Amino acid sequence: MLIDTHAHIFLEQFESDLDRVLQRAHEAGVGYILLPAIDVASISRCLELADSHANPDHGPVLLAMAGIHPSSVKEAAENDIERIRELAEDKRIIAIGETGLDYYWDRSFDDKQQAFLRAHIRLAAALDKPLVLHDREASDDLVRILSEEKEASPHAERIRGVFHCFGGPDAHTERVLALGFHMGIGGTYTFKNGGVPESTNTVPMERIILETDAPFLTPAPHRGTRNEPAYVALVAAKLAENRGLTVEEVSRITTANAKALFGIS
Ligand SMILES: [Zn+2]
Repeated sequence: MLIDTHAHIFLEQFESDLDRVLQRAHEAGVGYILLPAIDVASISRCLELADSHANPDHGPVLLAMAGIHPSSVKEAAENDIERIRELAEDKRIIAIGETGLDYYWDRSFDDKQQAFLRAHIRLAAALDKPLVLHDREASDDLVRILSEEKEASPHAERIRGVFHCFGGPDAHTERVLALGFHMGIGGTYTFKNGGVPESTNTVPMERIILETDAPFLTPAPHRGTRNEPAYVALVAAKLAENRGLTVEEVSRITTANAKALFGIS
């Protein structure tokens, strides 16, 4: 069984055919799909989907998160973090995310992104839930802030999670491992020059989980089309090939890792 630990299937790109998308995921062996929220409104949508897809006999089980994507922070109100806190206390919320930093699109609100990131980290520590982190061209600040928050937290040991769609740089790999975080490997891992650094190939398998980031970052050979959770099998196959493992071994290890990190029983 595979787990897609990061899929935005609550977005409008899946409005017309979500049932068929979930059926294909089921056929590809995907047992769970984790839904990272992107803003306050999306959290309710994630919870709705989780409630209506909770029975493993009827296809993949969907699980919800609560958080504000760094790119959505620009439009966020200051009290949105209070809303996130209220919603995140719900026991159906398995993780805080996605949060993080994105310096690629817009550098006009770095301070606000960093403030929201710190608030998410403190919330995750208070609630003892894992963090799902987005990093685009912001590795140094992300690791620095995470380290500072860990240092200052009364619950440092609770601060754990994943660098989703890990994209390096090489020097970053060691720092992520030293922080005790996992790496999310997705579609970019199947690209020839996808930005996933060489050092990823020596990361202990125990620290790796699989994801798609659907509908984005579609793996080869489907690049240019909409990504979907069934394609997490292509990521597993590529990882197996690169590590000299069988797909079954990759599935077993990464599924166990994801279950332990997200508290899935
Ligand atoms: Zn995402």
